[in-house]
Amino acid sequence: MRNRLQFIILIAFIIIGFPLSHVQKDCFSAYRVVIDPGHGGIFHKNKDKYGDRYDVISKKYLSYFAEGAHYKGLYEHKIVYSIAKKVEKLLSHCSESGDFSKFKKILNKYSKSDHKKIIIETKMSRKASVERAAAKKISDPNGPYRLYDFPDKKGELLKGRISKINQFKPHLVVSIHCAKTAPPDYVGMNAVVVPPYNVLKNGLDNLKKGNIVSPSSSWSMNSWFRGRRGMSRKRAFYEDVVLYFTGFGLQRNYKTDRDNFRGYRYNMVHWNYADKENWFKKAKEHKKNTRYGEYKYFKPEGKIWARESSKYEGYRRGTGFNDFGGDNYYASNEILKYIFTSLSKKGYKSKKKYAGKPFVSVWSVPLLVNAISAYIEIGYFDRKWDRKVMTRRHDEIAEGIAVGIYSLFAGMKDVKSPEYIKPKGKSIDFEKYQIGKDKTYFDLVVN
Ligand SMILES: [Zn+2]
Repeated sequence: MRNRLQFIILIAFIIIGFPLSHVQKDCFSAYRVVIDPGHGGIFHKNKDKYGDRYDVISKKYLSYFAEGAHYKGLYEHKIVYSIAKKVEKLLSHCSESGDFSKFKKILNKYSKSDHKKIIIETKMSRKASVERAAAKKISDPNGPYRLYDFPDKKGELLKGRISKINQFKPHLVVSIHCAKTAPPDYVGMNAVVVPPYNVLKNGLDNLKKGNIVSPSSSWSMNSWFRGRRGMSRKRAFYEDVVLYFTGFGLQRNYKTDRDNFRGYRYNMVHWNYADKENWFKKAKEHKKNTRYGEYKYFKPEGKIWARESSKYEGYRRGTGFNDFGGDNYYASNEILKYIFTSLSKKGYKSKKKYAGKPFVSVWSVPLLVNAISAYIEIGYFDRKWDRKVMTRRHDEIAEGIAVGIYSLFAGMKDVKSPEYIKPKGKSIDFEKYQIGKDKTYFDLVVN
């Protein structure tokens, strides 16, 4: 009897188990990665022509174009592009037609584990930047570099970079940046993460009650947008809360700053979470009893806010202070550790250089994609060590990023690296993002 029961269980397992493993193979037979080197394009004080964050309500760009950091002849957009191109080339060995044995040779330098072959399809989010001189002869030189959708000459909306990223339905987006000035608690490179929904919602609830307190004393609060000078972290937090939910700024007295409208960002890109067509007719009056008013009356209703509070966003960003950062933070930090490991193989190591505390803020790219967002700052121009690495060691940085990406998908056992920069080597559990039989959260971002 007992044997028979075991037999039935075994048969049931084969019948149920087989199609399941088959389904998983369909969803993750190839991983899609976007390498997103920051910026490109040019800053110009004529915001109406050169800006970004096009707002269909005012029919104007709400931001000046962010061309990236520069310092004594070093340009962020050039450095990160050069590195990104090298990552793309390395990952081409993992493409359908690539020669995986070449990539395996690189992996063998990092770990003795048996590196399984996986397929990675890679796309770049932009081309090399337009030069300032050439830009003068082009009618819209910043077109290919804008993050947000923008109008052509006839007023038709064209896809910006975030929309193009989403069109590819990536599993992972790796955004590469560097900056001019190191943060006060600088130790090397660091991640940039967007906070969990619950943390922001808690801030909104407190604001409404007039209970303006710091939400936590943990590291995540201490890293809240360290870049904003002369501003307390508490204030930076509440500014982000109001911007995130309402698109408005915040006055010194914690009232809505109606003159500082930064747009409904989730409606400025092409994806499945934007409001219905003609939403702007309702939004333009910013009425109290609608979602487009001030924070005081704001209710997180509709498609976008169902998404934001979903369990999948919880996986990506965490759900509170305990798991702050979620898979995004894990992915960013792992890649940073692989970069440090790669550099250390060429003698570029120091006990004082490792992956530091992340920046925390409501940045656009990590918020407006369904993919795992690894967003990294690879260095600071005001630090000598960083300048050296960022000018001379593009190959090593790129190798670290490419191996890190592989490891996030396939895992890697016991990476050979000094303990303080040693990657965990654990792959991300992508299967938890599977929805139904043959769809994942990553597929749902656009139709
Ligand atoms: Zn940047």
